[in-house]
Amino acid sequence: MKELLVKTVTKTGSSKLNEQNKSATPVNGKFDYLKDYVEERFQKKFPKKDFLTSWIEYNHLADFKISDNVESVGGISEEGHYIMRSITEYFLTQAFKSMKIDMNDPNVGGEKGTPYRLAKMYCGNDLNDDTEMLSGRWSNKPQMTSFPNEHGQKYPITKRVDIVSVCSHHTAPFSTLFRDGSYAVISYIPGEKIIGISKLQRIVDWVSRRGHLQENLTKMIYDEVCLAAETASVYVKLSGLVHTCESLRGTQSNEGAFTSEFYGGDFSNYEMRREVSGG
Ligand SMILES: [Zn+2]
Repeated sequence: MKELLVKTVTKTGSSKLNEQNKSATPVNGKFDYLKDYVEERFQKKFPKKDFLTSWIEYNHLADFKISDNVESVGGISEEGHYIMRSITEYFLTQAFKSMKIDMNDPNVGGEKGTPYRLAKMYCGNDLNDDTEMLSGRWSNKPQMTSFPNEHGQKYPITKRVDIVSVCSHHTAPFSTLFRDGSYAVISYIPGEKIIGISKLQRIVDWVSRRGHLQENLTKMIYDEVCLAAETASVYVKLSGLVHTCESLRGTQSNEGAFTSEFYGGDFSNYEMRREVSGG
């Protein structure tokens, strides 16, 4: 699907672009005034790739929700992602300058200074990076290995996972890691399939590392586990997560801990949920 998109765009886009280059008319999109700046960086990074193809791809990419992955708008190539990251870095530098932050300060400025690091934190290093705060908007979905349910198991399989996410209002982290007693649990009752248990954390990371409201994140994790396990009998509970936008700023409230759950199928039964969530 990705390739198809690039090819189609190139076909119609490059001829149009050549014409417009001749007349020096701006083409393609709202960031045209950054084209030279981006191209120079791009050619260093991808000396053998055609810049215009990727530039057009990036400019044709639709906006998508802070809680979604780029697949929701057709996906992006590694080169298109790099262009997005470069432009993001450019504007973060401008934001720092507008706040009168001295970019000559060696702890902030320089080629791989704070705007570079922030852009990486927001965008991920590449499409395989699942370690940054908003990398789940761009990274490839992890493969979910599954096995046939040979013994016909009909009891819940339960796993505790860590949640690292950021709120969509402030992009401030919220997590299970900020205090004792906070946890997240996923349970499902297998049908035909059993999913590789280590994969659950990866899928949770992929979904979580975007901008979220906790209640929406809970539902999204539920949906992904349903899809992977091919069952609706799934229970997701995020218990006592600390939201730093509340605990460290604003009200600085310690009441910021927040619990949410989402379930379906056999987990409509309260006793079932209590059993797997440990209370
Ligand atoms: Zn917030």
